[in-house]
Amino acid sequence: MKEIKGNKLSAAFFFLLTLTVCFFSGRSFLSLHQPEAIFPGPGLTEQKMLSSYFPALKNTPGDTAVYFFRGKEEGGRVLILGGTHPNEPAGLVTAVLLIENIRLERGSLFIVPRANASGFSHSDPQEGNPQRFAVPTPSGQRLFRLGSRLTNPVHQWPDPAIYVNPAGQKLSGMEARNLNRCYPGRAKGNLTEKVAWAVMELIRRENIDLGIDLHESAPEYPVINAIVFHENSSELAALALMDIQAQGFDIRLEASPANLRGLSHREWGDHAGVKAILLETPNASHGRLKGKPSSSLIVEGKDKFYTRASRLGWLFVPYGEEGIPLSLRVARHLAGVEALLASLEALEPEKSVICGNIPPPHQVIEKGLGPFLHPPD
Ligand SMILES: [Zn+2]
Repeated sequence: MKEIKGNKLSAAFFFLLTLTVCFFSGRSFLSLHQPEAIFPGPGLTEQKMLSSYFPALKNTPGDTAVYFFRGKEEGGRVLILGGTHPNEPAGLVTAVLLIENIRLERGSLFIVPRANASGFSHSDPQEGNPQRFAVPTPSGQRLFRLGSRLTNPVHQWPDPAIYVNPAGQKLSGMEARNLNRCYPGRAKGNLTEKVAWAVMELIRRENIDLGIDLHESAPEYPVINAIVFHENSSELAALALMDIQAQGFDIRLEASPANLRGLSHREWGDHAGVKAILLETPNASHGRLKGKPSSSLIVEGKDKFYTRASRLGWLFVPYGEEGIPLSLRVARHLAGVEALLASLEALEPEKSVICGNIPPPHQVIEKGLGPFLHPPD
């Protein structure tokens, strides 16, 4: 009798233990689906959802916030995307810095910080990546999600064996979940194609003049520290290049290959006639040569294996012991955005977008990201 009572007690104990573990792990898992707060500055005109341009996206995990800034004077119309690849944090953080600081004097600016919202809701399996990274600010740490390059398979599954994208290119099956292979999108396609279609709808309906897609790439990847441009934007890109170089940044031009289909810098230009630019910075945290993945690898960018690979001449950018911190990568993107806006103004004054209060790139390098971020909640 005593034994049965003992068994019941231990069964109840383990049942409660299981419930507790499930509760906390479930809560942690579900929190990954909640985007961190962004605190728009007083310059924000309106916040809407991407589904307002394509209602079929409403109430799906692909819907995402669009931050709209309008100047006092009419002018050009520019779109900036961060988070096309949610494992490339400089794009997201640059977009957040702009949203929390800028004031528009002329023209219109649309910013989508988490272009592939579904990709932010999971992490790449078997990579050992942290779920979040912490950016220090004067009054505490701001946490940001590190997501995956691809749409969450919980939201879009199964992958086909071979994926034929909306531009007709054959790719490996998992690219069906890569937003930057799914342009110009399909209104009745899979979730990622619907997101791409909604971005195209935004471009068409808002008469966007220039689209800028913010990315990062591994230091061993050849297209790095680069402005990738559609051929309709070659003059704009060349002018911006000189401006960015004059600020002391090493950067080069890469023409968008005409036979590489489905990417923003190709299809935005081909299908909507918009000037299309993609910016790349070097990010060790999603490279293949890195050591242990961590929040500090993302934020401080120091990695002894990349330093060694740099000494051996294996990389396309120099990688010293001081690393390539997130603040430097964001500063590069900010310098890129500023230079592209200045070039647009120089080439087509009637389409100029004049944006005040962009965090100065050299101050971001010197002081870090914290002083330009809203304090954490
Ligand atoms: Zn990317």
